[in-house]
Amino acid sequence: MTENKPGELGVSNLAISALPLLLDERRLRCWFLAVFRGSVTECPLCSSPLIGKVLRTFAAGRRTKCQSCGGDIRLWQGTPLHAMKLSHSQFFLLVCLSGLDVPGADIARIIGISKSTEHAWRNRLQTIVIKDVAAKQTRVGADGN
Ligand SMILES: [Zn+2]
Repeated sequence: MTENKPGELGVSNLAISALPLLLDERRLRCWFLAVFRGSVTECPLCSSPLIGKVLRTFAAGRRTKCQSCGGDIRLWQGTPLHAMKLSHSQFFLLVCLSGLDVPGADIARIIGISKSTEHAWRNRLQTIVIKDVAAKQTRVGADGN
């Protein structure tokens, strides 16, 4: 690994700092939905199918009421991304860079969040994401898919 003089960034660090340019927020949102929600056409509380205006409101990410159980439902409810203040690209980069052992201060700078927010999310990732992804993989495996 090449040593950089103080105040210089290596080529790899420059490339890492350009990662946000590659990300498509809309496609990432769809990917996260597939990973954490599975179906956007079912109520997260009772699994009944959502139809019409309720489905459109739910899929758009706005709160609505399930036609079957009457519960208040939100798209990200019950997922690690519920009430998240980060964009989908910020969250994606946080997960990737954390896995690559990039220092927290660098992650915070690259994705444009405070060090304390990065630290809080890193701790949250250790518990929530791993558990939910494992649960999702278990469910997919059980379905034979
Ligand atoms: Zn319901």
